[in-house]
Parts: sequence; structure tokens; C-alpha cells
Amino acid sequence: MHQFDHFQAFEHAIKEAQNNPKIDFIMESTIAEFSGKGALEDVKIKNLKTGEITEKKIDGVFILIGYVPNTEIFKEIIKLNERDEIIVNENLETNLSGVFSAGDANAKKYRQITTAVADGTIAALNAMEYLHD
Ligand SMILES: Cc1cc2nc3c(=O)[nH]c(=O)nc-3n(C[C@H](O)[C@H](O)[C@H](O)COP(=O)(O)OP(=O)(O)OC[C@H]3O[C@@H](n4cnc5c(N)ncnc54)[C@H](O)[C@@H]3O)c2cc1C
Repeated sequence: MHQFDHFQAFEHAIKEAQNNPKIDFIMESTIAEFSGKGALEDVKIKNLKTGEITEKKIDGVFILIGYVPNTEIFKEIIKLNERDEIIVNENLETNLSGVFSAGDANAKKYRQITTAVADGTIAALNAMEYLHD
């Protein structure tokens, strides 16, 4: 289900999904209500263009809410970019000496488990070296 009439994903990913017979697309819609006894059983789907509500039997949802880094609390002390991502150097140190940052909150190209874990190692080793010095 998607709130717009088109997707913003990579073209090849869209095509792959569209060619998968197990996937149905419900465009320009959102879930207006979840219901069920003890577990999810039904959803009410609202068409955002017409306002029409339809019901669908469903036993699981996977919600993608977008991406907003939770960096508000650092705003006054650590330099963020225009998307509120933390700016770090190659040692993962922020503009504040001795303060390191790792993971998805950082300004970077790829956000994956492996890049977050690698960041953690790099930041921790550099923090250790900083303390040692
Ligand atoms: C829908 C989805 C699917 C994904 N699929 C994949 C995949 O298949 N493979 C892959 O490699 N990566 C995938 N990723 C990316 C991967 O999940 C992230 O890159 C990775 O989890 C980043 O790790 P992190 O520790 O930086 O951040 P997170 O895992 O987001 O951890 C940050 C933690 O900080 C906590 N937190 C936030 N604010 C505060 C606060 N003020 N005080 C205390 N705690 C706070 C949060 O609750 C959270 O637990 C996916 C991401 C999403 C959203």
C-alpha cells in the first residue's frame, strides 16, 4: 500500500515487485484502522483520493514510515547537515573533539547493518585512542 500514485524506489526494484504475482499494489491509500482479537485480523483502507473506506482481511503489516534521524537533542552542540544527519570525519568524530558518532544517524551514503556495525567499531577504536592520548 502506498500513499502516492507512483513509487520513488529504484526502477529495477519496482519492476521486480510488479512482476511478482504474490504482490498486489494498493495505490493512493492508507490504513485508517487496525482491528482484531488478540492479533491483527482486519484493516480499514482509506483511498486518499476519494475518501472511500474498504476492509481487508490481513494478518500482518510491515510499516515504512520514512526517515527522520532522531538527532534533535544534539542540534545545539553537534554539527548536523540539512537533513539533520550528524556530520563526522573519517574517524567518525563529530565537530566536537572526543565525541564520536556511528550508524544511521550519520550523514552517509549506505545505511545497512554492516555499515552501522563497522561504524561502531571505528568510532569505538577512535574513542579509545582519544582517551588514551
Ligand atoms: C524497514 C527497514 C528495513 C531494513 N532492512 C535492512 C536489511 O535487510 N539489511 C540491512 O543490512 N539493513 C537494513 N536496514 C537498515 C538497518 O536496519 C540500519 O542500517 C541499522 O539498524 C542501523 O543501526 P543503528 O544502530 O545506527 O540504528 P538503529 O538500529 O535505528 O538503532 C538506534 C537505536 O537508538 C534508539 N534511540 C533513538 N533515540 C534515542 C534516544 N534519544 N535515547 C535512547 N535511545 C534512542 C532507537 O530506539 C534504536 O534502538 C533496514 C532498515 C529499515 C528501516
